[in-house]
Amino acid sequence: MRIDVVSIFPEYLAPLGLSLIGKARQDGLLELNVHDLRTFTTDKHRTVDDTPYGGGAGMVMKPEPWAQALESIASGACAEAGSPEAEGSSAGPTTKPVLIVPSPAGERFTQALAYELAEEDRLVFACGRYEGIDERVMEWAAGHFTVRPVSLGDYVLNGGEVAVLAMVEAIGRLLPGVVGNPESLVEESHSDGLLEYPVYTKPSAWRDRDVPAVLLSGNHGKIAQWRRHEQFRRTAERRPDLLAGFDAGRLTRADRTAF
Ligand code: SAM
Repeated sequence: MRIDVVSIFPEYLAPLGLSLIGKARQDGLLELNVHDLRTFTTDKHRTVDDTPYGGGAGMVMKPEPWAQALESIASGACAEAGSPEAEGSSAGPTTKPVLIVPSPAGERFTQALAYELAEEDRLVFACGRYEGIDERVMEWAAGHFTVRPVSLGDYVLNGGEVAVLAMVEAIGRLLPGVVGNPESLVEESHSDGLLEYPVYTKPSAWRDRDVPAVLLSGNHGKIAQWRRHEQFRRTAERRPDLLAGFDAGRLTRADRTAF
């Protein structure tokens, strides 16, 4: 997968060089390019914002630098030196890349959406600042990209960068080979509509608290049953909304007998 991120604060994306995502980039599992929007301006002040039409507080991001940046990325001109596209060895994308526009007014980012986006070959993230990006950019970009405004949650951040850090991590860890043991992706919270069961490690007794005895029993059937029960209990306690929307078709035969 290739990811391009456009931001006026490229340094904000530096953590994407660390940990599993950083290693995935080193191993060639993920190509990630960060672009400074200001390099696509044409005035000496490198202006990216202006006052809003209709009045009101704050500034709005100007359309021209965004169009320059996105056109350049869509044409492949922004590929990193040394990448296949930069060296002309690629026939070019056959489908439109997905342009994700982080926005509190977008569809909610979920694990299901992370799985969906992890299937794409190319993702482009446009980090807004101020009051957001001139709306015409999204309309125009639909000619080059599949445009998806996406929200991290029902709150307002100062910019799209933090949302991109979260989304790239959630998507990137689903790419084949990024997480060492793919089994660990299977039983996670939200993978099947429930939260994960509680987890414990050594020592078995700590500050007057014991690890649940079943986990020390060696009985794998009983452990699986306990974990499944805990998934339902915890989901009901913490996220009853998830349980209300739980698809009964996901109930296993053991679930139907036990609960
Ligand atoms: N005026 C906008 C509104 O009310 O919808 C909020 C603008 S916010 C201060 C600046 C930028 O932060 C947005 O353009 C977006 O890129 C990003 N942002 C803020 N909250 C976000 C959220 N919950 N999810 C994703 N991106 C967010």
